[in-house]
Amino acid sequence: MPSKSRTDFRSTAPGDPHRRELVGDTEGSEPSGDAAGSKPAPGLYLVPTPIGNMRDITLRALDILQHVDLIACEDTRVTGRLLDHYGVPTPVTPYHEHNARRVRPELLRRLAAGASIALVSDAGTPLISDPGYRFVREATDAGYPVTALPGPSAALAALTASALPPDRFLFIGFPPPRASARLQAFQEIAQVRASIVAFESARRLTGCLNDMREALGEREAVVARELTKRFEELRRGTLADLARHYAQAGPPKGEVAIVVGPPGDRQPPGDGVIDGLLREAIQGRSLRDAVDIVAERLALPRRAVYERALAMKPGAMKPGQRR
Ligand code: SAM
Repeated sequence: MPSKSRTDFRSTAPGDPHRRELVGDTEGSEPSGDAAGSKPAPGLYLVPTPIGNMRDITLRALDILQHVDLIACEDTRVTGRLLDHYGVPTPVTPYHEHNARRVRPELLRRLAAGASIALVSDAGTPLISDPGYRFVREATDAGYPVTALPGPSAALAALTASALPPDRFLFIGFPPPRASARLQAFQEIAQVRASIVAFESARRLTGCLNDMREALGEREAVVARELTKRFEELRRGTLADLARHYAQAGPPKGEVAIVVGPPGDRQPPGDGVIDGLLREAIQGRSLRDAVDIVAERLALPRRAVYERALAMKPGAMKPGQRR
């Protein structure tokens, strides 16, 4: 039974007085193969769905979902709730990482037979840390049209709300869960002059922020939690501030994305500066503490300072020795 809150998006069907405005009839804005209220042309449609707020779905997305022959989705129960909410009766079939190899050939056969198929994930934009890449690749290789609808994605929502530079950004999805691989993954991108957007589980957030701090050096960052939902929160600070906060407060509730600002514009300090500070810092301290102090002071990745310490002449870094 349709719920009371259900939106009748079929009001955008032909004959609706608003239709021309909704679809857009200005030069160059004709919809690609899926005019409002009509059956879409055969092919694969990538349809983003809300990341928390049920109303974050486009009219075109609803139109496509309503009129395609089949919706392939990660979890039929999750997508079923969305379809119920909007009164969409289209049949669904599961397509997720565990059955994709088996199901994909059948979906490609349906495309070959002239079907229109929408691909959705549980939330957000399909393919973005979600299934669908191989399907798009194989559909494209086989010559079937693939149409991406723009819509919600936690990555772009986090980036644009972060107040960190959005002009160049690197989306890295989920960092590796194991600490050593994660640290290495961050070291590999430490020199990239762009903001970084990452997904992370709340449970691994503190470890991830610590590793970012160590590999990328101190930078401004934002943890975007529960975007578009009731307890939406954007927590800003340096990577060290944020790591400290979550170490004390414990893992946050809900879903989080991390945005890290680009490396600063200043010139990196020369080896002479690092060496001088290391020599001072080592007095009465362990090598480890000295490296921490210098890395913090110069906002450099800890590893870079440590490598410099190792490269210095033997004897130059003896604790307690003044030169
Ligand atoms: N394809 C989705 C998209 O485009 O948003 C992302 C799917 S990925 C499996 C799920 C991850 O996205 C979560 O673990 C979290 O890192 C992030 N995420 C999803 N929804 C979020 C939200 N409402 N607020 C913050 N992060 C979110």
